[in-house]
This record gives sequence, structure tokens and C-alpha cells, in this order.
Amino acid sequence: MDDDIRYEQHVRRVLRTPLLVLQPLMLAMWPLSLWSNPLIGSPYKARYFALMLLLLGISALLSVARSARMMSLTFTGNIWALILAFRIQIQDGGAVGHYWNLPIAIVVVLGTCGLTYRLSHYLTTLAGAAFILFAGQAQLIPAAMPVQLVGLLVGATLAIGIAYNHANSQWMRRTFILKERYRILAETDELTGIANRRKLLERVDAARGESGQAPRHFVMLDIDNFKEINDRHGHQVGDQVLFATARQLDQLDPRLQGGRLGGEEFGLLIRDLDEARVSQLLETLRRRLAEAEPLGIRFSAGALRLTPELSLNELLRQADEGLYRAKRQGKDQTVWIR
Ligand code: GH3
Ligand code: MG
Ligand code: MG
Repeated sequence: MDDDIRYEQHVRRVLRTPLLVLQPLMLAMWPLSLWSNPLIGSPYKARYFALMLLLLGISALLSVARSARMMSLTFTGNIWALILAFRIQIQDGGAVGHYWNLPIAIVVVLGTCGLTYRLSHYLTTLAGAAFILFAGQAQLIPAAMPVQLVGLLVGATLAIGIAYNHANSQWMRRTFILKERYRILAETDELTGIANRRKLLERVDAARGESGQAPRHFVMLDIDNFKEINDRHGHQVGDQVLFATARQLDQLDPRLQGGRLGGEEFGLLIRDLDEARVSQLLETLRRRLAEAEPLGIRFSAGALRLTPELSLNELLRQADEGLYRAKRQGKDQTVWIR
């Protein structure tokens, strides 16, 4: 999977809970502010209901958003709708309605900085909110408030918001990189660099489920007389043989995913090829490994076709049985279990 997509999923997981917790609060803010505002007359005007419906609709979208991008977009939409609602309330508040501009602006600047995962997203959300709140208002702050002081306050709040947004984005990026590093470590065989037993068996298990629609094959492969290679040429050459085997597996075919099961034993998961093509592939592998450097490699294998009914344990047992028969029949061959 693409790194960017993984990162988006990571961000979505990190931001989802705080956003879901904040949602009821954002929804409750609107009716509560209407009921507690004596300046607007009746809190039950048709347009107030319409705004409540708009907020509910965007909230519903936010709670079902499946990607980080969709979540960010609906979050920004939610903020803008809330600001629009307050802008209308400010207008309905008459001569002193604009008293609310400054507190609302500060809440938005500080409230959104930790919930937007890119500076550009944060600033866009703020710019849109500022436009909706301020555009066309004759007076933005109470006449008695010194403009310089308000400027200082707004500037300081913005600086805090930007710094926190940056720190938060960095933190999410770093935890993602760490998580990826551990994931790769947990899935990779250290010596050969291909999938380890855990990862390979996870893939095979998933492939069992797909095996009803398209062919999926599993091959268990064991290098012949490997102990002798170790004994005669040394452990280091033995390691090179394992490495060379893994390279050949890696380069054989894009529909093949190989992994090291342990020692000199490998597993191959092959998708979308019928038995004849899998046999051809194994013969190609046999030829290439026989010519491998630093010395020719021979192997025995047990192969079978996966079915959804065949459990992971059972298919491993059967592949192992095929492998055992191949060894007993003289090695350097593949035995199919049907
Ligand atoms: P067969 O043809 O029947 O498979 O015999 P074999 O000699 O290949 O198999 P056996 O099980 O007798 O020996 C496997 C050897 O593999 C024993 C072990 O020391 C060695 N081995 C296991 N892991 C590693 C490794 O990571 N590096 C090296 N160099 N050797 C390893
Ligand atoms: Mg062996
Ligand atoms: Mg073995």
C-alpha cells in the first residue's frame, strides 16, 4: 500500500476520537447560544432551524467519513456552517451583536489548530471562517476597544494556533514513521529481507478467502542438503545461499509472494495461475537456482491449491507432507497434493 494512503489512515485514526467527542459539543453550541441570547428575540425562527439541520447534516457526514481527506473537508464544512450560524445570530443581535466577533474568532483559532493536520488546511479553514464572520460587517470590535490591543491579542492567538498546528502535524508524522518502522521490522526476515513467517502466513490466510473466486496456490520449499553446504563451505556461504534463494523468489513473478518460514524453508503464495503455470514457474525457479551464485541450489517442494474450506494449519500440514514425500523420493522435485 502507498505510504501516503497509510499516512492518511494514521491521521484519521489519531483525529477521529477527538473529532467525534467534539461533535456533540459543536451541535449543542448552536441551540444553547440561541436560548441564552436575549438580543435576538425568539430563538425559534425558521432560519435557525434550517441552520440546525445544516449542522446536523454536516455532522452526519463527518461521522461517516472514511478517509482523512473527507474527514478534514467535513470538519472545515462543520466549522464554516457553525460560523455562518453565529454570523446570522450576530446580525440579529442588533447594535451590540458584534461584541461576539472577537471571542468567536479566538475560539475558532484555538479550537481548530489541533484538529487540522496540515498548516494549509488550518489556514484555509481560518480564512474561510474569517470571511464568513467578518465580510460586510460595518463594525468588527466595540468602539471602546483599542485597535492595537485587539491586533496584539489576535496576532498572539494566531501565533499560538500556528505553532500548535505545526507541532501536532510533526508529532503525527513522527509517530507514523516510527509505527511504519516497527511494522516493517515485524514483517521482514532479517537475513533475506523478504517477508517473514508471520507476514507470509497472514497473506496465505487472506488468500484462502479469495480462493473461491480465483486460483491461489501455496508451495512449501526446502533447500536440499543445506547442512552439507554449511558444513563444507561455512555458515556464511550458507547465509549467502539463503539470500540468493530469496532474491530469486522475489524476482520470479509479480503474482508470486515469497517468505521465509524458518531455517532453509520458504513459502510461496501464487495468485491467479493454474496448476500447469505454477509448475512451469517452479521449473523456472529450479533452473535459475541451479545456476545461482555462489553455488547451485537444489530444492524439494510440496504444492497445493488453496480452498476456502482448507484451514491454515491443514494446508501447512499438507504442504509439509508433499515436501516430505519429495525428500523421500530422492529430493530435487515438487510433489503436488490434490
Ligand atoms: P534436507 O535435504 O533433508 O532438507 O537436509 P538439510 O541438510 O537441508 O536439512 P537439515 O534440517 O538437516 O539442516 C538444516 C540446516 O540449516 C541446519 C541448520 O544449522 C541450518 N540453518 C538454519 N538456519 C540457518 C541460517 O539462518 N543460516 C545458515 N547458514 N544455516 C542455517
Ligand atoms: Mg533442507
Ligand atoms: Mg529444513
